[in-house]
Amino acid sequence: MLSIRTFEGGLHPPELKNTADKCIVNLPLPEKVILHVSQHIGAPAKPLFKITDKVETGQVIAEPGGFVSARIHATISGKIIGAGNFMHPFGVPSPAIVIERNQETPEPEYPPENGFNLDLAEIKTRIQNAGLVGLGGATFPTHVKLSPPENKPIDTVILNGVECEPALTSDHRLMLEEGDKIISGLKLILKVLNAKKGIIGIENNKQDAIKLLSEKVKGEANIEVQPLEVKYPQGGEKQLIMACLDREVPSGALPMDVGVVVQNVATAAAVADAVNLKRPLIERVVTLAGNCVKNPGNYRVRIGTTVDEFIRMTGGLKEGVEPVKVIMGGPMMGFAMFDMNIPIIKGTSGILVWDKEEAKICEQTACIRCGRCIRACPMNLMPQQLKRVIDTKKWDQADTLGILDCMECGSCAFTCPAGLPLIQTFKMGKKMVMAERKKAQAK
Ligand code: SF4
Ligand code: SF4
Repeated sequence: MLSIRTFEGGLHPPELKNTADKCIVNLPLPEKVILHVSQHIGAPAKPLFKITDKVETGQVIAEPGGFVSARIHATISGKIIGAGNFMHPFGVPSPAIVIERNQETPEPEYPPENGFNLDLAEIKTRIQNAGLVGLGGATFPTHVKLSPPENKPIDTVILNGVECEPALTSDHRLMLEEGDKIISGLKLILKVLNAKKGIIGIENNKQDAIKLLSEKVKGEANIEVQPLEVKYPQGGEKQLIMACLDREVPSGALPMDVGVVVQNVATAAAVADAVNLKRPLIERVVTLAGNCVKNPGNYRVRIGTTVDEFIRMTGGLKEGVEPVKVIMGGPMMGFAMFDMNIPIIKGTSGILVWDKEEAKICEQTACIRCGRCIRACPMNLMPQQLKRVIDTKKWDQADTLGILDCMECGSCAFTCPAGLPLIQTFKMGKKMVMAERKKAQAK
């Protein structure tokens, strides 16, 4: 087995991974789904249906709005009962299609094929048609990542099985339960990119997954499993590439600029389904955790299911334990939720329902200029200064201070004794700086 590797710096937040031994449970179909047309980075998809239209599971209900965009599929069969603005997990109203389930319609079947025998164009088309996006949370359309320009050859594909976010264990379970599918997806990605080498990077706290996948790739000369030190944000693309290959992705550059494509292990499994079964992305595995839930675990759920119905289907909340904070995603990079009628989207890896004790991590005071955030930042940024210039809308200064290099990892917020909302500030700051740059280019 390869020696354990890592990157410089990083943090050790509490792991909170008490769902790691919970096998994936397939939940029943929800009564209703809310499907946002913007569940990916890039242009929103364009709806194809109107209220009262009938749709079937797997049917395309919104076409990509451009190359950097992704199809949206009906995740249940039924009738469209709503179309318009609905609250998005990102906290803003956004266009969505609501389907109410028809219990009579049978679920489609997806007969298996050996996708590896298909030609490259067909493999790519199937991936694009399935509406795949990065399932680790980044939601970048997969077909775009698999179409690098000709002058940027890819030699290595890294599968991200790090799952360094505290509390999340859905990728861990997927590696244990669907390792063959992940490897099949990796081989398809290697074929599409004509890349020579595949690496599956896994944090060293998942010994069972390291052992199992190492066994499974024993006969594959070009694929290896790389154990990685348990450290946050080990799963950041730049950190992962540095740890696995000792290659630095320069500021403003992309992994493809150093010959690498990184995909999450769940995305690789979805690639295998898209190519070998022609199955669109209609469901995903979500970790449910926190002191307030009755049955923490890992659940396969239809995309578009509301958080409320999702929790109810798992057994609901504990009585007598008051939920103080609900987070979509992990505690480092996730979003606080203020409405439980918000749907699970393609990038939702977890739902955390925290009580008062767990939520203490989020209490806020003023900045005490301790400098911890600067020491914690894996991108060598100055979060305290960035917050100050963004709060005062000095977008040019935020740009100069490198806000666009912020990978929204949350390390600064985690170490901040004042509990300041640094990630939310930086997400908004990045959007504003990008808009300012566009305005300047248009002049
Ligand atoms: S400034 Fe950005 S990259 Fe640096 S620690 Fe904070 S969230 Fe992570
Ligand atoms: S860690 Fe928080 S309190 Fe300390 S300097 Fe950074 S922003 Fe201020």
